[in-house]
Amino acid sequence: MEHVTSSPWVGLAYLVAGVLFIMALRGLSSPGTSRAGNRYGMIGMTIAVATTLVTHSIASLPEIAVAIAIGGGIGFVIARRIQMTAMPQLVAAFHSLVGLAAVLVGLAAYANPGAFGILHQVPVENLLEAVIGNGGAPVGFVNEIEPQSRIEMGLGIAIGAITFSGSIIAFLKLAGKMSGAAILLPGRHVLNLGTLIAILGLVAWFTQDESAWVIATITVLSFAIGFLLIIPIGGADMPVVVSMLNSYSGWAAAAMGFTLHNTAMIVTGALVGSSGAILSYIMCKAMNRSFLSVIAGGFGAEATASGGAAKEQRPWKRGSAEDAAFLMKEAENVIIIPGYGMAVSQAQHVLREMADVLKANGVNVKYAIHPVAGRMPGHMNVLLAEANVPYDEVFELEDIQGDFAQADVAFVIGANDVVNPAAKTDKSSPIYGMPVFDVDKAKTIFFVKRSMGGVGYSGVDNDVFYMDQTMMLLADAKKMVEEIVKALQH
Ligand code: NDP
Repeated sequence: MEHVTSSPWVGLAYLVAGVLFIMALRGLSSPGTSRAGNRYGMIGMTIAVATTLVTHSIASLPEIAVAIAIGGGIGFVIARRIQMTAMPQLVAAFHSLVGLAAVLVGLAAYANPGAFGILHQVPVENLLEAVIGNGGAPVGFVNEIEPQSRIEMGLGIAIGAITFSGSIIAFLKLAGKMSGAAILLPGRHVLNLGTLIAILGLVAWFTQDESAWVIATITVLSFAIGFLLIIPIGGADMPVVVSMLNSYSGWAAAAMGFTLHNTAMIVTGALVGSSGAILSYIMCKAMNRSFLSVIAGGFGAEATASGGAAKEQRPWKRGSAEDAAFLMKEAENVIIIPGYGMAVSQAQHVLREMADVLKANGVNVKYAIHPVAGRMPGHMNVLLAEANVPYDEVFELEDIQGDFAQADVAFVIGANDVVNPAAKTDKSSPIYGMPVFDVDKAKTIFFVKRSMGGVGYSGVDNDVFYMDQTMMLLADAKKMVEEIVKALQH
């Protein structure tokens, strides 16, 4: 691979791409500017890819075109077919590919360092003269991989392999192809810590000894630690895991950027790595969990061990679409709390219609979005935006929590864990400590779900079902809201 990265134009092009990526992140931080953000990102990526293509003779253009066509074709078909609710596992699967790419680039650089421009010459002394203390001129030179490149390579492969195997486990758990329960191996903390220390030790060793066994052992141990790190993490912590793996995949790409001497990749990788880390932190805060305890794993094990809390036979009230229509039409303030079930039934469009009718009747309608509602960060925001719900009607937890006391109706649609008061009161609950909406403060609660048997993601019962002011609307969310809209129009 020929490097022409020294030209100032290349540096400038990558700088412009980097600035566009930062503007993209800035834009994506608010729904109103997210389209512009996406555009900046696309332009930045086009500049970065074009610059790389014209400055490196990596492969022939037809080869690259075929690779892009195959990869792009597969991506296009998957993106068209994927259900919104299956997005988290798709994201996990994609992260695994970033990790695998980092491993493959690292191994390719190791196998063919000349092509990557990471060789340097080391003088070979005449052994005999060195022993008798004569020193003198070197008798020749050997080519070795630069020590700095060995660190980048070792770390890149390690992070990439951890991202790969960790993402595979996250994918299997999220897709329900593997139990979401926390699998707790005895002595796992010692095992994990020992393996991580061994990997770091081997990366240090690799700077002195470029034997194949060192890089092979780093690769194998890193694949293993990825499995070991994610297996003990229970389903309830998966949102954090997904964003943490997102962060790892960024760092893996950044390390790969060093190996490839590609500034744009280093910048992009660092942006993804740090934004993923910040998101993980925000989500941990939203779930009132410490980042370390999530990584250490084991959370959610209790709920699964008991097969979900006992579903008690307590009295509850069933409501109808007409009840909901009547009370909401009369209300002054209605707060809608969407959750995973709204995504499953794709009720967002008809929900907006319902809100439109209510607003036309003078009702003040707000949407309350919990940071971990649904199955991925921003899940509900995306769906509501798709249904053209005005952004100024959508509120985050801390901004709307105080409004429940004045709400006439809390309309819970497909949400469950995010309104479960056990998170505030029951120390033994697996969701204890997660901030939840104070729906119990509203005068009336309508709770839309399909059956009394169904539980939320964490598998625990919900006291809200049995409260005096609660009416259960048992049906598919979309059907129920369609009926409510009909009833409202009569
Ligand atoms: P939950 O998973 O707690 O509850 C979903 C609710 O939707 C249930 O009450 C279910 O009851 C109902 N439901 C399912 N399908 C339908 C349907 N077609 N029509 C009507 N209702 C339906 O959802 P929340 O959004 O409240 O909570 C999210 C949970 O997911 C949290 O525990 C969070 O930690 C976890 N999580 C979040 C991720 C994220 O990044 N946001 C990622 C992974 C997990 P029923 O079956 O009876 O219909």
